[in-house]
Amino acid sequence: MIEKRAFYIDGEWVAPATPRDCLVFDPATEEPCAVISLGDAADTEAAVAAASRAFPGWAATPPAERKRLVTGILAQYEKRAEEMAQAISLEMGAPIDLARNAQAPCLPWHFKGFLQAFDEIEWIRPLRADTPNDRIAVEPIGVVGLITPWNWPMNQVTLKVIPALLAGCTCVLKPSEEAPLSSLLFAEFVHDAGLPKGVFNLVNGDGAGVGSQLSSHPDVEMISFTGSTRAGRAISRNAADSLKRVTLELGGKGANLVFADAGERAVIRGVKHMFNNSGQSCNAPSRMLVERPFYDRAVEIARDVAEATRVGSPRESGGHIGPVVNERQWNQIQGYIQKGIDEGARLVAGGLGRPENLNRGFYVRPTVFADVVPGMTIEREEIFGPVLSMMPFDSEDEAVAIANDTAYGLTNYVQSEDGARRNRLSRRLRAGMIEMNGQGRSLGAPFGGVKASGRAREGGVWGIEEFTEVKAISGWSPESDVAAE
Ligand code: NAD
Repeated sequence: MIEKRAFYIDGEWVAPATPRDCLVFDPATEEPCAVISLGDAADTEAAVAAASRAFPGWAATPPAERKRLVTGILAQYEKRAEEMAQAISLEMGAPIDLARNAQAPCLPWHFKGFLQAFDEIEWIRPLRADTPNDRIAVEPIGVVGLITPWNWPMNQVTLKVIPALLAGCTCVLKPSEEAPLSSLLFAEFVHDAGLPKGVFNLVNGDGAGVGSQLSSHPDVEMISFTGSTRAGRAISRNAADSLKRVTLELGGKGANLVFADAGERAVIRGVKHMFNNSGQSCNAPSRMLVERPFYDRAVEIARDVAEATRVGSPRESGGHIGPVVNERQWNQIQGYIQKGIDEGARLVAGGLGRPENLNRGFYVRPTVFADVVPGMTIEREEIFGPVLSMMPFDSEDEAVAIANDTAYGLTNYVQSEDGARRNRLSRRLRAGMIEMNGQGRSLGAPFGGVKASGRAREGGVWGIEEFTEVKAISGWSPESDVAAE
């Protein structure tokens, strides 16, 4: 059993103000694998106070020096990447190869994007060529609270901590209590990189405790949150009194529009994408809309892919899928599968219960429903498990109407050989991201949604600017430029 009860505050590992143990469960065995502490108001207070003390010095550190120091975190990761993959696999059940090849590498991947974007930001510049005494300065917003979920833990931690620090903010991270081990390891990277004390702090806790305390704390200028729409609403309410900036990355119900000309490969790719990470991705293409002449064939292909998808232990190598994170999620997914059956969708693969020979662990059968009708529960709500809904469409207009008729708007997908159609649809679909023909976002592209999927853009220049304020300065002395920058 791993014991990690301490928090990282003001450059040191410190015991919680009041001991309160919290077990972390291995989703593959349902047994506890680690114990952490849940913080309280005194721990939150200590972390915010440390971040507040560190802020003036860190904000005044020249950008190039901040960049050099923050880059030290990447160097630590490179030495300990395998440990990071193991931590993620253990805490949330990602198969070890997924953890090694996709989950943990989110850290260097986003890091490189931010370092590139950093060089594009003009921290201070003239307003226009004809206003020599005006300057526009980009400055850090202040102390920020970062609250992250368990499903892609290093993805979300990196998307928040790195741009916050690069921007000159100091931060308090509250990772998910379900998957805190990777974040605790990340804190070791920060420590070993030698960042000034108080610049980065980590307090473990739950939503009702540290999460709410950070969201309502008067000295926290901004909360950057990724997680459920429910918690996003609660955080916005808690942040209202202190008028914080709140950036939200929430759930999704991605539509994947598959036209007949896209062929079988597009269907295979869409189903595999849906099942990746056991369906626990906010941008999962969970609604597959298929052009009617190709629909029956697409359903057969989806069934075959689901039946060929192996479910197994996170410890084993290979391209299988692992368990879902915990019993609550498992029960919730079972509830959705039952709803799909009850509401008349056609179950073509998977279904209720655990896969054969996997009686222990939160394993879910890769499931495909066909003939799903807009408005059914499984078409409306985010399931966050390996469950695909398929439905036919007859025209582009109908496909757009179904795709956009959702509370969410994170990622939509289009599969077609017709370039003009792809371009047209990319503008008609209401979402923060449109990915077509299997092409993912390039390094530095912004990640984020519209409507109930949130209010934020992470990654690239946008991801750094989220943590900044713009200052308009007049009466600037251009002759003294160098000294003041
Ligand atoms: P969750 O909202 O339950 O928890 C996320 C984090 O918020 C945790 O750290 C939790 O402790 C904290 N939290 C919970 N309630 C809180 C409150 N009232 N105040 C402050 N903090 C609170 O979500 P989860 O179950 O960990 O993650 C799954 C959800 O996250 C899914 O809905 C998924 O779509 C979403 N998600 C979105 C993105 C994105 O970028 N859009 C990425 C990953 C996950």
